[in-house]
Amino acid sequence: VPILLHTFLYRKAASATGLPTFLLVGPSGAGKTALTMLTERGTVPTTHTSIAPLSIEALLPSPHVPASSHYRSPGDPAYERARRFILLDTPGHGKLRSYATQTLADPKHVRGIIFVVDAAAIDEDQALVDAAEYLHDVLLSLQKRHTTAKTSKGPAAIPVLVAANKMDLFTALPASAVKTKLERAITAVRDGRAKALRDGGAALSGGDDEVDEEKEWLGEGGEGAFDFDHMREVGTTVDVRGGCVGLGRSEGDAAGWWGWIGEQL
Ligand code: GDP
Repeated sequence: VPILLHTFLYRKAASATGLPTFLLVGPSGAGKTALTMLTERGTVPTTHTSIAPLSIEALLPSPHVPASSHYRSPGDPAYERARRFILLDTPGHGKLRSYATQTLADPKHVRGIIFVVDAAAIDEDQALVDAAEYLHDVLLSLQKRHTTAKTSKGPAAIPVLVAANKMDLFTALPASAVKTKLERAITAVRDGRAKALRDGGAALSGGDDEVDEEKEWLGEGGEGAFDFDHMREVGTTVDVRGGCVGLGRSEGDAAGWWGWIGEQL
């Protein structure tokens, strides 16, 4: 029942307005709720329980400009319309992640995916593996969406922003290091999954195991390490940008993230 309810809420949120929607995903504690609240500042606050998705309608803050409206000026109705988007916060808890992946299976209004990670925690093995597994699965959903597309043109591209959050903490790694660490950890996740599939396949003996293995393999084939650039092949760009939400008295710095959202609008 909860899964149906959540799927329903997701669909409703996006289809009710038709606005471009950005899906907020990532491990618990990364700062998704904090980022949603930051985006929502100035609008009516919504209550949020961590198990339910939260959808808010937001405006791209100035001086950021929607890419589609570079030649229009503020005040122009088309410009103002282009600034509107929806941020859909998803539960990061392991058992609840299927809601996020289900939305990816039918992402009608999804314009982009924002994967939030805690750049100060990514140095810990468990946090890194946790983030890498989740991001691997998100990217694999996007890859499958592309490879199973019925049209030759393929579905509309869904870009991914890895928002390396909590840059205000001195233990935070810079975005470039977050990128390298995630790519390496995703390589390990992918290799582990492939080995598990092979072992499982061997146990079952025979069948179309090789075909399945290929479908489950993220990025380019071959022995090389996974690289976010591999995702371009399937129409997805992955950008890693640092920032922080800003809590209490400290100023947030989300300019890189707003900039990225603006590029997609
Ligand atoms: P979620 O589980 O991804 O929704 O994460 P939350 O938004 O609940 O944030 C988890 C914790 O990280 C909370 O205690 C936040 O106050 C804290 N937090 C979120 N963003 C930042 C940030 O940019 N800097 C710092 N220092 N703490 C943050």
